[in-house]
Amino acid sequence: MTEAKIRIATTSLAGCFGCHMSFLDMDERLVSLLEQVELNRSPLTDIKHCGPCDIGLIEGGVCNEENVHVLCEFRANCKILIAVGACAINGGVPAMRNYFDLQDCLQEVYLNGAGITNPQIPNDIELPLLLDKVYPISEVVQVDYYLPGCPPSADEFLQILEPLLKGQEPVLVKAHLHYD
Ligand code: SF4
Repeated sequence: MTEAKIRIATTSLAGCFGCHMSFLDMDERLVSLLEQVELNRSPLTDIKHCGPCDIGLIEGGVCNEENVHVLCEFRANCKILIAVGACAINGGVPAMRNYFDLQDCLQEVYLNGAGITNPQIPNDIELPLLLDKVYPISEVVQVDYYLPGCPPSADEFLQILEPLLKGQEPVLVKAHLHYD
């Protein structure tokens, strides 16, 4: 009898997809990983909603109402939730806007900045509402594990995933972790 595969979902909230690209840097090791794993919602599958999963990998901080919705969907459906990368853990680069008032940011970007030819702040109803700040995901939902780095390396992804796939507690080796 074939063993059931571990189901993993991934998403990027306010992130740059760099953490996802680093995940793919596993190269040929992805082949053996995918023998044990089935991907659910992910930019790699284009599945739009997170179903019941064993592990959820979250890249990026929380900057708008859609991010909140997606993050809560992951938390509701994933037994284990992992904050992947600096943006998910502390807001990272997107959180640099937290030093400024949101309206001041929008005015600088869309009205007063250099090279603007058609000044207007986008307000289409389809656009998700921005939050006042960019938040670490742990300020919105409970997080089970943190994988630091910008981005974490492929080795570090494996360091946390391989034990979890065997039902073991991951031990992150400090020498392999980095915070830049
Ligand atoms: Fe991109 Fe770095 Fe943020 Fe990952 S942690 S989403 S690589 S900026």
